[in-house]
Amino acid sequence: TLYCGIVGLPNVGKSTLFNALTQAAIAAENYPFCTIDPNVGVVPVPDPRLDALAAIVKPERVVPTAIEFVDIAGLVAGASKGEGLGNQFLAHIRETDAIAHVVRCFEDDDVIHVAGKIDPISDIEVINTELALADLGTVDKALQRATKASKAGNKDELAKKALFERVLAHLDSGKPVRTLPMADEEKALLRELHLITAKPTMYIANVREDGFGDDNVFLDRVRAYAGEEGSMVVPVCAAFEAEIAQLDEADKAEFLAGIGMEEPGLNRVIRAGYKLLRLATYFTAGVKEVRAWTIPVGATAPQSAGVIHTDFERGFIRAEVIAYEDFIAHRGEQGAKDAGKWRLEGKEYIMRDGDVVHFRFNV
Ligand code: GDP
Repeated sequence: TLYCGIVGLPNVGKSTLFNALTQAAIAAENYPFCTIDPNVGVVPVPDPRLDALAAIVKPERVVPTAIEFVDIAGLVAGASKGEGLGNQFLAHIRETDAIAHVVRCFEDDDVIHVAGKIDPISDIEVINTELALADLGTVDKALQRATKASKAGNKDELAKKALFERVLAHLDSGKPVRTLPMADEEKALLRELHLITAKPTMYIANVREDGFGDDNVFLDRVRAYAGEEGSMVVPVCAAFEAEIAQLDEADKAEFLAGIGMEEPGLNRVIRAGYKLLRLATYFTAGVKEVRAWTIPVGATAPQSAGVIHTDFERGFIRAEVIAYEDFIAHRGEQGAKDAGKWRLEGKEYIMRDGDVVHFRFNV
């Protein structure tokens, strides 16, 4: 499974956010998620479409899909030189599929800031510099290998050498690899290096409860910085979310309604993570269970069937598909069929987000 690593300087609210995410998972007690590793949070993805489907199908149970967040604490300046537990943390980050970078945008004299003052851009740069230095080391080694291997004129190795030189120059100029324009073949060549700054990244601006507005200059600065590199910013108040996450579902709903919120801010973090990982959702809607399933954007019908069971992929025959909007508009499968919105799709079909599917397969 794909997962999102939470990084950031010490004392910015990573654990607070992570605990809120994990609490949200525990609170959803009907759902079959449990936490095995204390640093891994398997978090249900809030999706109002599930409730809309359930209102029509009236199943015995509703099962959301989930996303994993991993708390990668302990990244400090000097990590790329092996300071602290530097190498170990970098190794963990290398394994992630996307990065949620938490940035402190709240002032609180009771919470010590490692650099002595609140300066989100300098904080971001401390972390990003460590990540870039780690990548520089990786690319430098790879370039040496490719240079040696290309001596005899091997085309693939020459292509690698040229690419790695470009990547190195880009990193040297202080930019993350994710902002370097590359052809798909080049991206494929680079994949084996697991470069950290090539991973999709979002910034989670940890603001005060009242810090979401235009008057929060810290938030403004993070937005401007992220905008330059084309990354998302998700503002959230981690401490507040951690408190809400502890309430049971009924109290939570009442509390949120009382302050005029429809859902916890945490849901935005979860959805942003899902998007960052380039994941999409399809549904199965039977009387036993209405359920959301996660696939990578661009997955074919057989690959998507394989998420339910590998046998489904191997024995795939056809997928019966109704788009979510059609399913809702025509009040279910029969209605959608009558309206001509029911389709039979084959092996090549690329699934769309929201497809309501029934797979036909051989066992
Ligand atoms: P980490 O080191 O990045 O994991 O940071 P923690 O989650 O342990 O938070 C560090 C301190 O900041 C703790 O005392 C938290 O209670 C506090 N904190 C975290 N988020 C917020 C927030 O949104 N507002 C305020 N005022 N304090 C926060």
